[in-house]
Amino acid sequence: MTALLENDIIGRRGLMLVLSSPSGAGKTTLTRLLRDEEPSLTLSISVTTRQRRPSEVDGVHYRFISVAEFLEMRDRGDLLEWAEVHGNYYGSPRKPIEASLTSGHDILFDIDYQGAQQVRGNAPGDVVSVFILPPSIPELRQRLLRRAEDTQEVIARRLQAAKIEIERWRDYDYVLVNDDLGRTFARLRAILSAERLRRDRQVGLPDFVDGLMGDL
Ligand code: ADP
Ligand code: 5GP
Repeated sequence: MTALLENDIIGRRGLMLVLSSPSGAGKTTLTRLLRDEEPSLTLSISVTTRQRRPSEVDGVHYRFISVAEFLEMRDRGDLLEWAEVHGNYYGSPRKPIEASLTSGHDILFDIDYQGAQQVRGNAPGDVVSVFILPPSIPELRQRLLRRAEDTQEVIARRLQAAKIEIERWRDYDYVLVNDDLGRTFARLRAILSAERLRRDRQVGLPDFVDGLMGDL
């Protein structure tokens, strides 16, 4: 799990950045911004049994699969975590995650609280978790309506589920209220920068310091 990344002179372990929120609070938007700014960040592309939205591309936003395919993957142990969310199955394929971590790359997960709990349980030291809250419930509803990619029925179901999701805020390392998008994004980047610099993640430090001491 160690590699020298661009701009780093110290070898570092990859970390898993987990973003969760009630639907509509802004995870997907923040994920897109973060990936534009941080090309070295690998996005974990989930498999899901939900219907593709008009704006979504198979293999980019999700891999859209049948329930039978999902259950097969799950039962083979191909998923690092999985959950049923809003009546559909979602899961994170294990293989690409392991490949990224091995090469020292950070991975970004947009997953619900059940998935976050499983990933944390598997590798507690490697997970940094961030919960995104909406500034208010009327605004959350507006965002779901403005996104205009789900039916009224689906939106009502997601608002219902928001209560159960918001209740999990204490499980996360960081909590951001996504009022102003630019400010939330700046805070998210600050979290990532600081977490990358944690002493225990910079596994190349002992050798580096030995080198410094040897030259004194
Ligand atoms: P999620 O992935 O959490 O379901 P999205 O990122 O799809 O949420 O955001 C839902 C809608 O809200 C989108 O139309 C998005 O453009 C909008 N949005 C996201 N963040 C903000 C913000 N800070 N202020 C206003 N609108 C936002
Ligand atoms: P959406 O259908 O709006 O894309 O996502 C619905 C919810 O499922 C969101 O809370 C999202 O974070 C979650 N989700 C997406 N992919 C996964 C996954 O692979 N695992 C888990 N546990 N949740 C996921």
